[in-house]
Amino acid sequence: MNQNIIVIGAGLAGTCVAYELAQRGNQVTLLDRAAQPASGASGIPMGILMPFLADIDSAAKSVYAQGFQTSLNWLQRIEDVGEGNIFERTGAIQIPRHRRLKRLFDSNSELDFGVRCGSTALSQKAGIQISEPGFWVMQAGCVRIPDWIRWMLQHQAIDFKPDVDVTELQWDKKWRVKTRNRSFDADAVVIANARDHLSLQQSAWLPGERVRGQVVYVKDRTSTMNAVVCGDGYVTPSFDGIQVIGASFDHGMDNMNVNRHQNLLMLKRVQSWLPDFQWQPEDCVSGRVGFRFSTPDRLPIVGQLPRFDELQSAGERAISHFDPSSIPYYEGLYVSLGHASRGTLTCPLAAEILADLIDQPAIAPGSQFKRALEPIRFLRRALIQSNP
Ligand SMILES: Cc1cc2nc3c(=O)[nH]c(=O)nc-3n(C[C@H](O)[C@H](O)[C@H](O)COP(=O)(O)OP(=O)(O)OC[C@H]3O[C@@H](n4cnc5c(N)ncnc54)[C@H](O)[C@@H]3O)c2cc1C
Repeated sequence: MNQNIIVIGAGLAGTCVAYELAQRGNQVTLLDRAAQPASGASGIPMGILMPFLADIDSAAKSVYAQGFQTSLNWLQRIEDVGEGNIFERTGAIQIPRHRRLKRLFDSNSELDFGVRCGSTALSQKAGIQISEPGFWVMQAGCVRIPDWIRWMLQHQAIDFKPDVDVTELQWDKKWRVKTRNRSFDADAVVIANARDHLSLQQSAWLPGERVRGQVVYVKDRTSTMNAVVCGDGYVTPSFDGIQVIGASFDHGMDNMNVNRHQNLLMLKRVQSWLPDFQWQPEDCVSGRVGFRFSTPDRLPIVGQLPRFDELQSAGERAISHFDPSSIPYYEGLYVSLGHASRGTLTCPLAAEILADLIDQPAIAPGSQFKRALEPIRFLRRALIQSNP
């Protein structure tokens, strides 16, 4: 180890990678074009750390199960050194509002992370009236994402540089990371700038969608509530007199301003499954808008970046010789992207995967869940579809 590594993007994805690399003895420079860390999607004050509830084995189930355990371990270690304010172990109630969760609820009394409960038991756990049955997820909770990021940035081996807008990456035995008027050299680079990876030539081919999201902060009217309640959206318990209600999913919208009308719609939506909640429009204190980057298969993109240009021309040969040694990768170039709505669940896991890869690049990704996250999966699928 002991490499000089640049990470682009000081959101949760980039900061987790920077932290893990620093912990393993590397010197990390973390660049962000904003003046502060956590200026993108990671700026929401509270994120729900909620496992993925599933019964049938799938890549997603395996990734999110690993991710949940990894995040819990990371947050536990922070608590162990006396920082008790980042993770609120509230537990969460999942009311099955959608078809997938309804099927899950009808066919399982217990899942890996959740247990089916009637409305009376759920009301006791939540400290408020819940009128429908659902799952109780004991280990879930609320994470103060910006505080988590600031805590990791205290690591001595991380040099955080704000106001650095990366525009270009060049390889010449080392990586040269360029802005309009500066450049930084590194042995390896991790791109963790969410949807803005499009502006960098090496990663621009990675597919995905930018999805606007808004959360609303409301004055606490339910001070007895002590667990997160998820239905069609989520509501947190009160912290410092404010509850967070989230989140909208707005496809094709680019507006950064908090939309008051949307705040009211979110309140109304929550009241449809939590009828006892009686917030008034004047209870909306404010809100926040962020942009998630979501991939076509909804899983994050984590791994070494293949050379898109060379792989395209390799065509059928790339499929038939689909072993890691036949894939042309950029040396020392990695991504942690596409964390969508589940960054608290996937960013620490992504950081560990990348640190392993950077440690020992010769070792193939290996396990099935890691392969499900590799950037190259999109090319593999596209090539297979065009060569049925
Ligand atoms: C409204 C909303 C609610 C959410 N709720 C939850 C939740 O309850 N639970 C949960 O787990 N997740 C939630 N999420 C998702 C979570 O916020 C994201 O998964 C996570 O924050 C993604 O982190 P990131 O680092 O990938 O992206 P970001 O936090 O967006 O970070 C990317 C960073 O890259 C920087 N950057 C971009 N381009 C460049 C460049 N060229 N040069 C330098 N820097 C650059 C940006 O300034 C930014 O700081 C929510 C998201 C939204 C929007």
